[in-house]
Amino acid sequence: RLEISHIAKSFGGQKVVDDVSLSVMPGQVTCLLGPSGCGKSTTLRMIAGVESPDAGQIHVDGQLICGDGRDVPPESRSIGLMFQDFALFPHLSVAQNVAFGLKLDRRAARARVEELLGKVGMGRHIDRFPHELSGGEQQRVALARALAPRPKVMLMDEPFSGLDDRLRDDIRDETLDVLKAEGTAVLLVTHEPGEAMRMADEIALMRDGRIVQRGAPYNIYNTPVDRKAAAFFSDIN
Ligand code: ATP
Ligand code: MG
Repeated sequence: RLEISHIAKSFGGQKVVDDVSLSVMPGQVTCLLGPSGCGKSTTLRMIAGVESPDAGQIHVDGQLICGDGRDVPPESRSIGLMFQDFALFPHLSVAQNVAFGLKLDRRAARARVEELLGKVGMGRHIDRFPHELSGGEQQRVALARALAPRPKVMLMDEPFSGLDDRLRDDIRDETLDVLKAEGTAVLLVTHEPGEAMRMADEIALMRDGRIVQRGAPYNIYNTPVDRKAAAFFSDIN
């Protein structure tokens, strides 16, 4: 379970993230949805631990990982990351990519790698190299790699935007299935209302650094908080 309380961040006197609070339950997907520049990636970077908030606290499963003078390093937060340009290591095989950074003995690591590659439908390609895979296949491997250490939380920043339309739908659905089966709490950033409607259990609508509305996708779609929110949802695809 991920809990963010009142986090804030300014760059050069400009408030980019302003008093944002969110929570995500295990096996649930919360979409942080909003237009370009509203502060989505900055929020994710603070949760990942690569950017320090000016204020607020972040907890994972009740443990304080950031805030009140505490700052757990990124690799110790039990948080997985998946970004659009989060490329695989080109010189490592699929199996080596997924096993990378796993603190398990060889046999346990191999078992986990095979389990995950099976789940994402990439078992056949375990000994290939990234340049021998399509974009969608690379994305599946990236998902397996992010899940390998069993993170409690997965942060995804527009992870599907590099894929063509039909493939994107398939990969979205598969990704959701795998993440739900693993019981991971997912925070997914997108600027596409259609993607949020399709993937989210809860949507947090962000604008100018603030969460302006939170709720189930159809509640937000049917009862937007204001005209701007309504307009934002009107160009859904
Ligand atoms: P997009 O949908 O385009 O990815 P976003 O919602 O992810 O947008 P952020 O990347 O969080 O937006 O950026 C929010 C604002 O903060 C932008 O105006 C951006 O220019 C600014 N910003 C982000 N990082 C920095 C930085 N390191 N220094 C200064 N300004 C920054
Ligand atoms: Mg962004």
